[in-house]
Amino acid sequence: MEEVGLVILPAPGIGHLISTVELAKRLVKQKPFSITILMMRFPVPGTDAYIKSVAASGLDIRFVDLPSIQFPPFEESQGPETFVSLFIERHKPLVKDAITSISASTKTRFVALIIDLFSTTMIDVATELGIPTYLYFTSCAELLALMLYLPTLHTQIPCEFHEYQGEVEIPGLRPLPPNVMPTPLMNKKTDGYAWFVHHGRRFRETQGIIINTFSELEPTALEAVTDGRCLPDHATPPIYPVGLLIALGENSQSKSTGLIEWLDKQPRASVVFLCFGSMGTFSPPQVKEIAQGLEKSGERFLWSLRCRASEKLSMPVDADLDQVLPDGFLDRTKGRGLVWPSWVPQAAILAHPAVGGFVSHCGWNSVLESLWFGVPILAWPLYAEQRLNAFQLVKDFGLAVEMKLDFDGHGLVSAEELERGVRCLMEDSEEGMKMRKTVEEKGEVSRNSLKDGGSSFASLERLADILIHGSAFPH
Ligand code: UDP
Repeated sequence: MEEVGLVILPAPGIGHLISTVELAKRLVKQKPFSITILMMRFPVPGTDAYIKSVAASGLDIRFVDLPSIQFPPFEESQGPETFVSLFIERHKPLVKDAITSISASTKTRFVALIIDLFSTTMIDVATELGIPTYLYFTSCAELLALMLYLPTLHTQIPCEFHEYQGEVEIPGLRPLPPNVMPTPLMNKKTDGYAWFVHHGRRFRETQGIIINTFSELEPTALEAVTDGRCLPDHATPPIYPVGLLIALGENSQSKSTGLIEWLDKQPRASVVFLCFGSMGTFSPPQVKEIAQGLEKSGERFLWSLRCRASEKLSMPVDADLDQVLPDGFLDRTKGRGLVWPSWVPQAAILAHPAVGGFVSHCGWNSVLESLWFGVPILAWPLYAEQRLNAFQLVKDFGLAVEMKLDFDGHGLVSAEELERGVRCLMEDSEEGMKMRKTVEEKGEVSRNSLKDGGSSFASLERLADILIHGSAFPH
């Protein structure tokens, strides 16, 4: 019998890959789709065990490795967004061949190609094959609003954002200080900026935009996007908020043995957890400031500390603790602190009752995980759109404590500032209690939205219905 298939092409990066696979899991449970996930060959630490578990789950989801390609050159000055966009673009003929041959060999009619926000060049492939393209946007609705509006913003604010005196006005968003704009937008002369505008402009060519948020979390941004205010001169594709989609602890790695056992011995909500996403690292002087701040705060802590091997686009590597931490730090904090020099199972840690606060870089998946598990954040954004996420967390959601950062990137966050932030996060102040209550309430709403009758469930149902009745390849 002919299968109804979806092809999904996740971007290579844990923050994109895992939530995209979670979307596939949801869709295949909703309707009898046969799902093919095309994997570009790029090392994505922390995902192997998870992918294996999904592949062995019995769901109709198959992972297909695309052939290797020659990597584009990485130039630090052009930013990771340029690298990833070029890397994905080079896969165009491979994606076309894969869809054609899988369709022929498995008798699958593909009804959609689901792409990532960095993969809009693949719209050309889908158009050639006559398959509708859907975008899966793995970040927040605020960023989606901003990216849809970017071509307009580009003409409204021709100067660099750091030279701009006013606030940046984007439909559906509270006026933004220019320094919270995503990093690739902070230098308009770079290819990273041009790619961001390019992707934002092409979103309108898709048949629908699926997004990992839920309508109760970002109502005004979602409304502005849905009613077309962010795309004044063009029809906006239908928007499907289906979040929050996270993997609940399945991405743990065997190397973390001993860590959860350590948490088991700590009192309830007593530990502050520090973790900075797949790419977050700090300079040696900044590591020392963090250590001093933690020591002075007197709080219990669990710190995932990794370092960068070189300035190139290399993944962080395990830290040599004796080399990077201040002399005697580990002895002085023994018993109340644990520094873990490598990757940690973040979701399992946030789910642990001993964890009471999270010092986070505010990557969108980390934000969603903290919300799901009811852990408030001390916001320390580092790269990509994290400043925007942090701003929203503090000002709109009331889910995070703000930290004073040097947004020009030259200075350090002092030990005193970190100590202040950690105390504010962990102590039972009026502000802290209010934040904790808000996190718990929003977490419950997020879980309900995915249940039958919830907003994200309804959105997913609508999407699955449209997909299954859509046009197909081969015709
Ligand atoms: N993560 C993890 N262990 C680590 C670092 C990160 O499990 O040591 C996971 C984290 O739980 C999240 C993802 O990696 O699901 C990071 O995604 P996010 O969007 O927060 O940040 P990004 O890495 O994309 O900057």
